[in-house]
Amino acid sequence: MTERPTTYVDIILPLPLNSLFTYSIPEPLTEAVKSGVRVIVPFGKQKMMVGLAVRIHDKEPEFKVKDITRVLDTTPIVTEDQLRMWNWIADYYMSPIGEVFNAALPAGLKAEDGFRPKTETYVTLPENLRHEQALHIAFGMLKRALAQLKTFNTYLTLSHWDTIVGDCTDEPVVEVTKDELINESHATAGVMKQLLDKKMLVTYEKEVGRLNCGGVPQLDNVKRLSAAQQEAYNNILFQFLKKNVVLLRGVTSSGKTEIYIHLIKQALERHEQVLYLLPEIALTVQIRQRLQKVFGDRLGIYHSKYSDAERVEIWKKQLSDSPYDVILGARSAVLLPFSKLGLVIIDEEHETSFKQQDPAPRYHARSVAIMLAHQHGAKTLLGSATPSAESWHNAETGKYGLVELDVRYKGIEMPEIKVVDVKDMQRRKMMYGPISPLLLETMKKALDNGEQVILFQNRRGFAPMVECRTCGWVPKCENCDVSLTFHKNMNMLTCHYCGFTYSVPKKCPNCEGEDLRPYGYGTEKIEEKIMELFPNVPVARMDLDTTRSRNAYERIINDFSAGRTKILIGTQMVSKGLDFDHVRVVGILNADSMLNVPDFRAYEHAFTMMSQVAGRAGRKGDRGLVILQTKDVEQPIIEQVVTNNWRAFYSQLMAERRLFHYPPFYRLIYVYLKHKDDDRVNTAAIEMGGRLRQWLGARVLGPDKPAVSKVRTFFIRKIMLKLEPGIDMKRVRQCLLLAQRQMEQDKRYSSLQIYYDVDPS
Ligand code: ADP
Ligand code: ZN
Ligand code: ZN
Repeated sequence: MTERPTTYVDIILPLPLNSLFTYSIPEPLTEAVKSGVRVIVPFGKQKMMVGLAVRIHDKEPEFKVKDITRVLDTTPIVTEDQLRMWNWIADYYMSPIGEVFNAALPAGLKAEDGFRPKTETYVTLPENLRHEQALHIAFGMLKRALAQLKTFNTYLTLSHWDTIVGDCTDEPVVEVTKDELINESHATAGVMKQLLDKKMLVTYEKEVGRLNCGGVPQLDNVKRLSAAQQEAYNNILFQFLKKNVVLLRGVTSSGKTEIYIHLIKQALERHEQVLYLLPEIALTVQIRQRLQKVFGDRLGIYHSKYSDAERVEIWKKQLSDSPYDVILGARSAVLLPFSKLGLVIIDEEHETSFKQQDPAPRYHARSVAIMLAHQHGAKTLLGSATPSAESWHNAETGKYGLVELDVRYKGIEMPEIKVVDVKDMQRRKMMYGPISPLLLETMKKALDNGEQVILFQNRRGFAPMVECRTCGWVPKCENCDVSLTFHKNMNMLTCHYCGFTYSVPKKCPNCEGEDLRPYGYGTEKIEEKIMELFPNVPVARMDLDTTRSRNAYERIINDFSAGRTKILIGTQMVSKGLDFDHVRVVGILNADSMLNVPDFRAYEHAFTMMSQVAGRAGRKGDRGLVILQTKDVEQPIIEQVVTNNWRAFYSQLMAERRLFHYPPFYRLIYVYLKHKDDDRVNTAAIEMGGRLRQWLGARVLGPDKPAVSKVRTFFIRKIMLKLEPGIDMKRVRQCLLLAQRQMEQDKRYSSLQIYYDVDPS
């Protein structure tokens, strides 16, 4: 046997580091190592890590390297296309490749033992309790155990056993997992155990992670397009002949989704794959139901509320010979492998949740999706009633094709929007807490008619603040520079930045005063107020706190859809894309909270959010009515929302953006510096700002303290870069990375962290 030169392999490890790691390949493994397979390597003193092989070569490194230990895959689990995309993301968003790897792969593929089919624990009523009388006896037994009774009752509500009279059926109407019940009822482990010990509830295991069977595809099950829709559809196809990206601006309820369905069908007929991106997991519930009717089991769903096992299965299926033809998902679905992608649809393209905030990579799924489409020679359709400034600009300048649809399906009128002057109402002491007399009146009328109501408040929790009425003291988080939100249900103060919880102080630590009061309205308090005003109307709340468990979205949305609940209260989750037939009235409780945000996009966000939530009203039948409550009726934006005059809004917005050098005319990069020591981060930021200014001049602004200048015990500073069109971005990135390296090598700034937010939104 002839001696072979040692071969080496460069590996991505899931670490926040910019470099690849080189290892040698022991002889017996030479055949097995390929680009895209996972390998196990020794790292540090004793640790083993799973990494991804990306490049095999025989260039001997200058330092001593170790052998890889094992190869986990026989075929690549990451395609060459994906690797190219990861590199693009790492480069463009200035994020270490290890973090891109971390974000892209489901956890099950990053762990050594891989994934096993997972089971989940469900709870149900034991057979002997499945009868109305038996249930009454059970209640009697729990009379003294209030926490258990509450949890038991929550179970009955969730499973809909409570709607059954007489003998119960064999199975609960809705299956409930143990986790979901614990989440919904805030039960402690002890309470749960007591209920199980007493045999009030029993558990059973069910394997999850079997991919959903969506049924037989019925491609002819598409709705017939209206004349206006057909014209838009034809126009989109026509634009695709010339442009790779087309923006469909269609008013809310114009039937954009139906047009997408027709386009997907057409792509499948060409044997191409489709990626359909949504900004919000809540939305996947309804859209899935609509798509499944047509595409059956050719449709796969992918988002972060899916179990890891399921995500691993979908990933592997997409690598197989029979991948899903249509993938419906939230942001992270752009990172899946695709083999024959033909069309990407980005619904509600203006939504900022397409941008990942924390942790890195801080990528914008819209930009990545357009890159992905480009990579595959596929087309991209952006859809929105209120396009982002960026996309609108691209459409106006002819970079993207533009198709407009200005009528609602069936010619239903856009909702009427009435403005309430909250300041005036408060002065005249006419407000019912957060509800104006007009809103109350309108709600009553709609409910009497058997119609439904959506109330929108962009704050979760009970009260955004607690305040000492004697001295004005406000409890703040110890780790972050923010006031704490009061959650009445849990009787806790929580920090929405670091998640820390605190008990509510009995006395003010500042003045010993005992009059501590919640201040302001969160969704939880609104819910309480509404239940007081409408004691007999079933109410549901949809916000981050009520949707922690896997099935919560589905239940809340299906209950509201079926009319089991009549009033839906929620945060921005209720503002996007949902389609309900019987919502007559939408209340926007506090428009000002969206406007008083220190961000150059605040107005754009407020306008789109208000227009979107208004768009939930009156989608079928009679004209919808929106009650918009504000303390500042004079602001021009209110008038623009009321008249649905987005053209006026955009031309003003664009003029301002152009004048003040903001996107879409200039690019922004935020540089963040983080350290546990406030003085140190301050000096570091000033120094780094100075260095950057030497190279990039007046494009560099700051440093400044961001609105929240301390998070999780780290003090933060922000430097802003405003970059004119045509600037050499490569050079800008090099300057930044060089400055970063110089700062990191400076001993005074040890453990300083520097990271970037490119194209912040
Ligand atoms: P958008 O996505 O523009 O907000 P949707 O696609 O959700 O609008 O359409 C609004 C409602 O009208 C939905 O309930 C949808 O099923 C219905 N609809 C739209 N177009 C058609 C059509 N061509 N045939 C039947 N129903 C339609
Ligand atoms: Zn006080
Ligand atoms: Zn905190």
